[in-house]
Amino acid sequence: RVTDPLDTDYYGVFADIGGAERDAWSRARVLISEYGDRSAAQWDAGDYDISIVRRMGELDLFVDGIEHEGLTALSPLAAGLINMEISRGDGSLGTVLAVQGGLALRTLALFGSDAQKAQYLQPIARGEVLGSFALTEPDHGSDSVSLETRATRAADGGWIIDGAKKWIGNGASGGVTFVWARVESPGADDHGKVRCFLVPQEAEGYHGEPITGKASLRGIHQAHITLRGVTLPANAVLPGSHSFKDASTVLYATRSGVAWSALGHATACYEAALQYSQQREQFGKRLAAFQMVQERLTQMLSELTAMQLYCRHLADLEASGGLRPTQASLAKYHNTRTARRIAATARDLLGGNGILLEYGVMQHMADIEAIHTYEGTESIQALLLGRDITGVSAFA
Ligand code: FAD
Repeated sequence: RVTDPLDTDYYGVFADIGGAERDAWSRARVLISEYGDRSAAQWDAGDYDISIVRRMGELDLFVDGIEHEGLTALSPLAAGLINMEISRGDGSLGTVLAVQGGLALRTLALFGSDAQKAQYLQPIARGEVLGSFALTEPDHGSDSVSLETRATRAADGGWIIDGAKKWIGNGASGGVTFVWARVESPGADDHGKVRCFLVPQEAEGYHGEPITGKASLRGIHQAHITLRGVTLPANAVLPGSHSFKDASTVLYATRSGVAWSALGHATACYEAALQYSQQREQFGKRLAAFQMVQERLTQMLSELTAMQLYCRHLADLEASGGLRPTQASLAKYHNTRTARRIAATARDLLGGNGILLEYGVMQHMADIEAIHTYEGTESIQALLLGRDITGVSAFA
């Protein structure tokens, strides 16, 4: 039994974890033990303390399953456990992990040139430079394949980027943004293709504005970015990025991370509900002594255990090289919708206190809403799966 103080791993799904995996998990716990007390206050204030990114880098939490010289790759299981544990402690930090490691570092490792990697791989992995991944646009979310940001090839071989991006984590942090844009270069092989560009955020014409009024993931900023005539050298393009499929490759990989993150949120909610029901007394006895409460806790545990099994199996499939993208979609589909249900039940079991930030559940419940949407909504995962199992595309 590995979670403490409460017993959520009912089948012992993670009971055999040892070695590098346990070590990775412990490092995530160190972060949460340092940050946990501040979590609700940061969220309440809508404050993103970017010094935490450096600390996460020091604890070697960003590298994920990325193989690259000089970086110690984590196994899929180790990366998953980190994701679970951090989201169990704080959803905003879970998203920092997803953006800095899952999206930015992975994009650079997969598609970057040797020179780009030499300059940025280590600093991003260590959290010294903040990285962001800009695919979504104000008018193109689920259909980001239709993105309108343009990269025009200039006469000297350089690039001029024009467009807008929305919802970009770390997009106004002073770091670098991996911008996906459509090439405008009539006659060239890549004309009309979507490619990725490394854009330093201090570049002239780049403007990132944190989105205000968010009621989810308030401990990290997402930015609305405008790119107006941003002039870049020829070597700003990531040479391994050739089409929209490459952006999709990154998202396929990070969907597993979202499934693990949902498990972390749901674990925290179940634990809070169990603990509260054992302490709170109504009608002269503890809530936990009522049959209906026990049934609801059992329902939550059964769903949580299914999420754990999905995650463990995902990690095993990925480690064997046999994970198909739609299998990650299935886990994301199942786990975020199940986490929503578990959070809602937990919130209800805490009564009025369930809406107070100090009890934790409401913050998780609000944060789950964002992870349910990003990296492909529930309906988009369903369409990907529907196409796979029926052979018919229902996208458009
Ligand atoms: P829409 O695409 O407008 O969808 C609205 C609704 O319509 C959804 O329910 C959707 O499922 C449904 N829908 C759409 N098409 C169909 C269809 N064909 N059939 C049935 N239903 C459909 N993007 C980045 O590039 N980088 C980031 O770092 C990033 N971080 C994010 C962080 C947060 C907190 C959030 C909320 C978003 C982030 N995103 C990021 C963007 C995210 O990926 C998009 O929000 C998501 O893909 C959905 O796009 P949308 O919000 O435009 O919704």
